[in-house]
Amino acid sequence: MITREPRGTQPSAPRSTPVWQQALAGAIRDPDTLLQRLGLAPDAIPGMQAAHQLFRTRVPESYLARMRPGDAHDPLLLQALPRGEETHEQPGFTSDPVGDHDALVAPGLVHKYHGRVLLLTTGACAIHCRYCFRREFDYADHSPARDDWNAALAYIAGRPEIHEVILSGGDPLALSDQRLARLAERLADIPQLQRLRIHTRLPVILPERVDADLLGWLGQGRLQHILVLHANHPREFAAPADQALRRLAEAGVTLLNQAVLLAGINDDIDTLAALQETGFRLGVLPYYLHQLDRTRGTAHFEVSTDRARELYRALHARLPGYLVPRLAREIPGEPGKTLLTSSPSRA
Ligand code: SF4
Repeated sequence: MITREPRGTQPSAPRSTPVWQQALAGAIRDPDTLLQRLGLAPDAIPGMQAAHQLFRTRVPESYLARMRPGDAHDPLLLQALPRGEETHEQPGFTSDPVGDHDALVAPGLVHKYHGRVLLLTTGACAIHCRYCFRREFDYADHSPARDDWNAALAYIAGRPEIHEVILSGGDPLALSDQRLARLAERLADIPQLQRLRIHTRLPVILPERVDADLLGWLGQGRLQHILVLHANHPREFAAPADQALRRLAEAGVTLLNQAVLLAGINDDIDTLAALQETGFRLGVLPYYLHQLDRTRGTAHFEVSTDRARELYRALHARLPGYLVPRLAREIPGEPGKTLLTSSPSRA
């Protein structure tokens, strides 16, 4: 069983905690309740409880509100609802499909690509996405003691070629603003760093997260701040996420979106085109359309490479070039993401 409770966030948060932490504490944590709230029969999904035991359900209320009641195939619900297929072993699907373990150079620090490094800041998330490539990652064994980033920061400081730090997780924005602001300050003290990139689903999944405290530290500092959202369906950008994204854009934060191509969720041209256009209206630029990382228990989400290329070509034909994300997959050991366009090249 994977347990990834946010550090410092308990199920019954006191009133003095920020609104977003209270919303996170109130997230739905069992699949029967999730289905009941949508007017669906709990026994409709075979193997649901077994899959839930492997990777616990988590869905905040504001995300639930964007799901369609009575629709067992709702693309937002499918991203969060445990299914029996997750318990099936599939050849080629492993616990660490992108080789994170082999690339750890200090507690919580992954160095794979030239010029940038990844900090695994927390194992906590606002939602537990069933296709998650880190659903089996052992955060306890590979994270530093609480906020002890000394080894990671010394590694970065000693390498002048590193210009960008990427905060990943889990979801980095599951950490408090005090802890994030402190980390951002320490990174800004490393002279060669230019950019701080944060990969997060929180502004979309739990828009309450975008509050004055977050905007306060994100909107200032020496480093350029980039948020890479992980929205997979245009309806994820609906209210209240739209307002949260507008506030981030107004604060001067660069917003990009990296979607995962997911069977039954966004593997059709209309959905993919609407995802890019809706995001762009809110100030979000397309970045990657990512092939699924082949994580154990996620095979039912996979879209074939041929179909992915077909969709990419259709997107190219329909949208202006600046709205077409790069189709890519991550292959362990490669020096960058591998682009899946007609002629092989690196991102
Ligand atoms: S938010 Fe990201 S890290 Fe967290 S469960 Fe979803 S895909 Fe995984």
